[in-house]
Amino acid sequence: MGLGFCWATFAFQKHENMTNKTFTMIKPDAFAAGNTGSILKHIEAAGFKIVAMKLTKLSAEKAGEFYAVHKERPFYGELVEFMSSGPIVAAILEKENAVAAFRTLIGATNPANADEGTIRKLYAKSVGENAIHGSDSDENAAIEGSFFFSAFEKI
Ligand code: GDP
Repeated sequence: MGLGFCWATFAFQKHENMTNKTFTMIKPDAFAAGNTGSILKHIEAAGFKIVAMKLTKLSAEKAGEFYAVHKERPFYGELVEFMSSGPIVAAILEKENAVAAFRTLIGATNPANADEGTIRKLYAKSVGENAIHGSDSDENAAIEGSFFFSAFEKI
């Protein structure tokens, strides 16, 4: 391994630790309803830059792994079934204070409690089928981003 590569790896890891990134998924309900374009427009209009993005479909196993933290919750089975029911769009987004700013943009988990103008208020159907995911911490944003994207898929 050359010195240049080592330095690049170090620089990349430092970059990854910065607190200006978050991870999102447009969930199967929003994708199936044809709301992907509108939601991405909303995200970009709010000043988030897309630094990685892919259209994919989670297997039940992968959805279970992604939401493993909720394993003991009564809705876990329903959540895994829903998240593996159709295509999703995964993305890494960049903006100052990205995690908190994006949680504000998407609104409360239950669209009934979400503020007017938020993505969940506009596009979510229910507390389960709630259109979009947003990381809840910088640490989880990094973990979730790496769950979907390799270093070569992030700009
Ligand atoms: P988030 O951070 O706002 O996405 O909310 P949580 O981390 O609490 O929950 C993760 C995801 O689980 C939510 O976005 C919903 O898709 C789903 N979820 C949460 N609560 C419920 C519930 O009561 N019923 C069902 N079916 N799904 C839920």
